[in-house]
Amino acid sequence: MTTQPSSVMDHLFLNETADSRSSYRRALNAAHNVILDQFARLPGAFSGREANWIASRIEHLDICPEAGTDIEAVLEQAGKTVVRHSVAVHHPACAAHLHCPPLIPSLAAEALISSMNQSMDSWDQSPAATLLEQRMIRWLCGLFRYGGQADGVFTSGGTQSNFMALLLARDHFSMTRLDWNVQKNGLPPQADRLRILCSEAAHFTIRQAAALLGLGQEAVVSVKTDANHRMSLKDLDRQLADMEGRGLIPFALVGTAGTTDFGSIDPLPELAARAGHRGLWFHVDAAYGGALALSDRYSHRLAGMDHADSIAVDFHKLFYQPISCGAFLTKESAPFDRIKLNADYLNPEEEESQDTPNLVDKSIQTTRRFDALKLFISLRTLGRNGFSRMIENTLETAREAARLMTEDPRLEVINPSPELNAVVFRYLPRSAGEGVSDSEWQDQLNRRIRHSLLSEGKAVIAQTKVDGATCLKLTLLNPRTTPEDIQSILEEVKLAGFRLEKTKGECFEHVPLFGTAGHHAEFL
Ligand SMILES: *Cc1c(COP(=O)(O)O)cnc(C)c1O
Repeated sequence: MTTQPSSVMDHLFLNETADSRSSYRRALNAAHNVILDQFARLPGAFSGREANWIASRIEHLDICPEAGTDIEAVLEQAGKTVVRHSVAVHHPACAAHLHCPPLIPSLAAEALISSMNQSMDSWDQSPAATLLEQRMIRWLCGLFRYGGQADGVFTSGGTQSNFMALLLARDHFSMTRLDWNVQKNGLPPQADRLRILCSEAAHFTIRQAAALLGLGQEAVVSVKTDANHRMSLKDLDRQLADMEGRGLIPFALVGTAGTTDFGSIDPLPELAARAGHRGLWFHVDAAYGGALALSDRYSHRLAGMDHADSIAVDFHKLFYQPISCGAFLTKESAPFDRIKLNADYLNPEEEESQDTPNLVDKSIQTTRRFDALKLFISLRTLGRNGFSRMIENTLETAREAARLMTEDPRLEVINPSPELNAVVFRYLPRSAGEGVSDSEWQDQLNRRIRHSLLSEGKAVIAQTKVDGATCLKLTLLNPRTTPEDIQSILEEVKLAGFRLEKTKGECFEHVPLFGTAGHHAEFL
């Protein structure tokens, strides 16, 4: 057996040698060039290429050639096949989802995070990183006005945070109210009567979590929303009374601070009072709206969140962090003990102390990224003021978008006073369709408008259903998006609608557009 002398490997890994340093610089420089020359300069929100066109390019890639290739060539090729047909998250017309352009300071932090490769599960894999994450958690608890008993952990996002909330809620409730240790014995005998309440506008991951937790999706009781898309207290009270009558056991109430479609915020103080009164675990899903806590003008909208037993907040949305980055916070640290499963190799008992914490105890992940660093670097760089201004800007842009839609006879806005920065609307046809009802015609047109804008690379906008009707949605996270940008997106929507009406809904991806070409020639 022969082994390579270490010097041959120097350039492949970070280390103190000159070979390593120059190889790192060259590789990252090449990556920067692809990002700056190709990604940052993408001419539209999307190339508009169909899936099978992109698939054929990807199919052609030689994934693992027998002999390697120079990094510059490899990156160059990734640029051509992948980068060019990615969505330009920074483009004003990329406005479909809760999908943000990442802050430049956070991108610099990502280089540190991946290069240092600390793992948050144990002290001996992330000493300073563990302490910084804990410090960030303390800061976040303060931001959400939690007291000294609060605790938390960074997560991969809202899905994981919501899952952890309901996991802790289920296990805590079972232990304290049903005298049952779920971790040890599995689900309690009453499991099929356990119920979680959330509004019909709550995120689907609440239902998903109920299913994963063995309670079944039917354990989630949907409470109606009011005219402002917030949980209706009247219906909540009715549902709670109804459950009591049927011998069901509600154990968790989930409020949403920023629903995915409308950005609506449930009446949190009233929910907190009801949860407190009935001994329910009160979880607030603030994945989207949690960022308002940084705003001078809007933080009051989160009033009542400090009464929550737990909070989910995402940083890869309105905190402008690269995916993935979120946190799960709890008002008290004790419930975390219910999910603790010690791995002897990660946290030997003699080492368990306040001074050398092993964060694996607080997470359902084991190996875990040091994502706290990028949020820290961003907060330090922009300051709270910087975040406050950015977030407030987007809320103002959304209000302006809603106003433009209200004034337009071809558009109907569903939430004329958006609470965050999501605006739901639909195109109103001039004409009736052929052989279809008016509502079906309207649904068809709106669906095709979205598809037509995407396939022309004009705009990436979302589609959703409101009371059964197909609607379009702009999620205006991008602080650089201006009212003029909104105006041009709306013009494109109306133009597409107009053309679709004229051809009675035929698809027109291949009809040449006036103005700029559908596909940008240099990217063909
Ligand atoms: C985005 C979102 C989630 C899911 O979070 P991920 O970060 O995508 O896992 C859950 N709830 C709400 C309200 C969200 O906006």
